[in-house]
Amino acid sequence: MPATPFDPTGCPCGTGRTYDACCGRLHRGAAQAGTAEELMRSRYAAYAVGGRTGADHLFRTWHPRTRPDDVDPDPRTTWTGLEIVRTDAGGPDDTVGVVAFRAHHDGPGGPGVMAETSRFERRGRRWVYVDGDLA
Ligand SMILES: [Zn+2]
Repeated sequence: MPATPFDPTGCPCGTGRTYDACCGRLHRGAAQAGTAEELMRSRYAAYAVGGRTGADHLFRTWHPRTRPDDVDPDPRTTWTGLEIVRTDAGGPDDTVGVVAFRAHHDGPGGPGVMAETSRFERRGRRWVYVDGDLA
């Protein structure tokens, strides 16, 4: 069960597609992200969905060199919206990519925004998150 309530008819990442047809496919392992932005969206959606599904996806899509031993999205945080600010490379023919984003959240401390410029790397056919700089 998702730890955080979300609307299953609309993907949390905000594409306007259903969760199932958008990031849900990636979370289930039924599809791979074709671009760094698509992976970024699926990772945001994984935080929004939370629970085991979200944690597993975050772990799988984190570079083995930089990922924590355990990924544990905070169930008290509700993710309320994603804005992609800028992308650099990260396309199907690239091996690295950068995605700058603003992720809106709400929780015990009140609403806030997390702004990060994230670096991604393509390993074989799969995009993975390497690290990021908080704005
Ligand atoms: Zn999505």
